[in-house]
Formats: sequence, C-alpha cells, structure tokens
Amino acid sequence: MENKKEMRQWLVDFGLNHPLVIGGPCSAETEEQVLKIAHELKESDVTVYRAGIWKPRTKPGMFEGVGAIGLKWLKKVKDETGLLTATEVANKNHVDLAIENDVDILWIGARSTVSPFIMQEIADALEGTDKIILVKNPVNPDLALWLGGIERLYKANINKLGLIHRGFSTYEKTKFRNNPEWQIPIEVKNRFPDLPMICDPSHISGRRDLIFDISQAALDLNYDGLMIESHWDPDNAWSDAKQQVTPSRLIEIMKDLKVRKKTTDEESYKQQLNNLRAQIDVADQTLLDTLGKRMRVANEIGVLKKSNNVAVLQNKRWNEILGKMILEGEERDLSEEFILKVFKAIHQESINKQEKILNK
Ligand code: PEP
Ligand code: MN
Repeated sequence: MENKKEMRQWLVDFGLNHPLVIGGPCSAETEEQVLKIAHELKESDVTVYRAGIWKPRTKPGMFEGVGAIGLKWLKKVKDETGLLTATEVANKNHVDLAIENDVDILWIGARSTVSPFIMQEIADALEGTDKIILVKNPVNPDLALWLGGIERLYKANINKLGLIHRGFSTYEKTKFRNNPEWQIPIEVKNRFPDLPMICDPSHISGRRDLIFDISQAALDLNYDGLMIESHWDPDNAWSDAKQQVTPSRLIEIMKDLKVRKKTTDEESYKQQLNNLRAQIDVADQTLLDTLGKRMRVANEIGVLKKSNNVAVLQNKRWNEILGKMILEGEERDLSEEFILKVFKAIHQESINKQEKILNK
C-alpha cells in the first residue's frame, strides 16, 4: 500500500480548527443516558459522538451492549444535536445495520483488527462505502497486522480511512491498561503521513487521571485527533467505569491541552532548529562510527574464541558491562530502561557476529 493524500481528505473536509475530538460513552446504556451526554457535549470541541452498541467483553456474562436499538438513539443524537455519530462494528450484520441507520463513522475494534478473517468480512461488507472507517490497532503490537487491516479496506475501494491508537496488551502489568508503544504509531506516521491518526487515551490508560497527559503526548506527536470516553456518571457506567470522564471534565481537558503548530515559517525558529538538527546529525555519525568499531572488535574476539574453542556467551563479563553502563548512564541522565534496551541490542548483534565466525 502507498501513502495516498485521498485517505486524509475527509478530515480536511471537516475544516476543523482544532484536533478532531470523538467523545461519548464506552457503551450506549439507555436512550436517556445517550441523549443526556450528547447534549452536554454538543457545545464543545467534540465533533463526533461515540457509543458502543455491540461490546466485545473479555468474559461472558458481562454487559455486551444494547444491540441494534442503540442505533435509533444515535440517530436521535444526530437529529437533536447535529453531532456526527460513530460506533464499533465487528461483523457483516453490524455493518449492514449501522449503514442502514445512517451512522457516520464506523470503527473496527482492537479485537477485530487481530483477525484477518473478521477484517476481510468487514471489508467485503463495506465494499465501496463512502462512510469514514477507523481501524483500531490490534491488541498485540503487530504493525503489519494493523496496516494489513487498512489495506483490506483500501482494496475494497474504501478511501475515507483513519487509525485509532489504543495501546497494546502486555502480560506484565504496567501503569497503563494497554501499553502505548509510541514507536509503533510513529513508524506508521512516517510511512503513511496522510493516514489520519487518532489517539484513544481512555483505552491506553484505563484510568481517568492519565488521560490528560496521554492526550498531550499525542498532540505533541502531531496526531490528528482524540477519542475520549465520556459518561455523565462515570463510576456507575456499565463498562469501562474507571476510565470515563464527565462531559464537563472532557471540555476542561480540551481547553487545557496545548495544540502545537504543525510547523512554522518563522526565520529564527528555523535557524535554531537547523542548527540543532546539524548537531544531531553529527552525533548520529559518531554513534555509527563507534558502533562499527565496537563490532569490529567483537569480530576479533570471535576469531580468538574460535581458535581457543571457547563459548560465545560469557555471562559474568556481560553482567559486569551492563551494571557499569547503567551507573554511568545515570550520570548522563540516561534511564536504566533505555540503557538496557540499547546495550541488549548491541550485545545481541555482537553475539550474532561471533556465532557466524565460530560456525564458519
Ligand atoms: C471501545 O472503544 O469501547 C472498545 C471496545 O475499544 P477497543 O477495541 O480499543 O478495546
Ligand atoms: Mn470502552
């Protein structure tokens, strides 16, 4: 798939002077709840009203959504408030019903993007639609699977497309419900700068007190929009209670977020930036030279180990290096996490090189 300007045209047509904001409850619960929240959000930056009608739940027996009746409530939202509407679809039946009931934006949830069969079924059902389709990242950090989902839609002649970054599952518990793994959406943005990218801080965080910071991080990375779950009584929501914010809190968050300019023509800014970038370029060259030199030495060690028939991996030596690097990294304001990542990668490359030599 290539980057195509037409993928972002729908967003341009919206003519927003702020990021696209999608707000509304995790789930549609009752007609009264759906309309009450919509009315509270109608005079805000929210342009699109979200509500899940069919809810994918981890365990059976939980609230699985009100079903098709909720589509009538969304229609009412549109008529009464002028907000556009959005809901999740996970199979052909959902697609047909959502289109029949004039939902404006359909999104594909994280548990559907993981499944090529489901993605294909949805793409086939949507073939040629002019609805806007947003694809959430799959639950696992698999860039190709995410882009594969978009490609299936694109091949089905759907070109009003966008992505929603909602974070990735991990076995180890972190402070996030779903780890953001920012490098994945950053890579997508590099490869497909015209594919709109929306951040869902609600599902990344799983808790309402982190939503502001994640939203700001997304705007700092030039995201095109935010999807934030909002409920008039968050603690008593039927799903995702911990991460929802009241409409008034959502309005406050939007007011406090700093929207960065995409770029500026100001001369002095450009000069300073060029100067700093030149310094980065020099530092990167030095890094490359140093890495090359280190690998050449590793090769020589490989030759020496081979002629003495010694194993490649020497754990004691490696642990000493790591410990020392963590301490020295601290003095240079480099986090332990970063040092571990970098040196593990360097070490792995040395091992690969020595393996080759030993087995030549
Ligand atoms: C949702 O948006 O309510 C939802 C179920 O999200 P996800 O697919 O990201 O889990
Ligand atoms: Mn939710």
